Amino acid sequence: MSIAQILRVPILPFRMVNAHIIKTGDGCIVVDAGIPGSEHKIGKVLARNGMFYSDIKLIIVTHAHTDHAGSAARLRSLSGAPIMAHQGDMDYYTRKKPMTYCTTGLAGRLFFKTPVPHQPFEAFEPDILMSNADVMSLKDFGVDGIVRHTAGHTDGSIAVELSSEDALVGDLIASGILIGGIAFTGRAIRPPFEDDPHRVAEELERLVKSGAKRFYMGHGGPLQAPEVMRHVHALNQLPRHACAHAHCDHNSH
Ligand SMILES: [Zn+2]
Ligand SMILES: [Zn+2]
Repeated sequence: MSIAQILRVPILPFRMVNAHIIKTGDGCIVVDAGIPGSEHKIGKVLARNGMFYSDIKLIIVTHAHTDHAGSAARLRSLSGAPIMAHQGDMDYYTRKKPMTYCTTGLAGRLFFKTPVPHQPFEAFEPDILMSNADVMSLKDFGVDGIVRHTAGHTDGSIAVELSSEDALVGDLIASGILIGGIAFTGRAIRPPFEDDPHRVAEELERLVKSGAKRFYMGHGGPLQAPEVMRHVHALNQLPRHACAHAHCDHNSH
């Protein structure tokens, strides 16, 4: 199995929103699809690296927020690649329910007032649907790594762990300022929305303990393991209330 290379797709400038491509010697896997209309940005990075949409073997959607799932359906039609996602966010992928947003602070509350989190995306049914604690191997897609359920940011959040000690974790963690990116991208922060910080802390700690050294995220990044652990300790200091969206008065829960 060839060594995989991780390419960043800038969805918004200054690392505010990223998608990623795991490139192998024979095609690639796209991790997250950006806000609606991002397929051309992904296409541009493919072209710059000598690839076409047809080189996409798999589209992994880490969770159902619109800045990650937004272009997945469109990308599937362009590439013919299957979409892998987790059952926990299924009702949002199919748009049966409006997405819930548990804001983590001022930046999240301000971001929530912008059109970005509310952009309706084309509904889709994942072709490879993970459930509960399923672990999926990426070997069939040419990558030495796995996808695992890492709930906490949303119920159906998943993360990619590569044997190269790289982890692509969606919004389990962010870095920078405001929604992420912009400046101080070596410093971990909570993403603008997060359902359960204590669950997130458990998953991040598990990832570090299982050998992940570099973390690639949807907002900001990348981060090294020691900074991720510093963030885990900060999350563990937060008051322990089950979120259950009780303090989120922004949406229909
Ligand atoms: Zn998110
Ligand atoms: Zn996000």
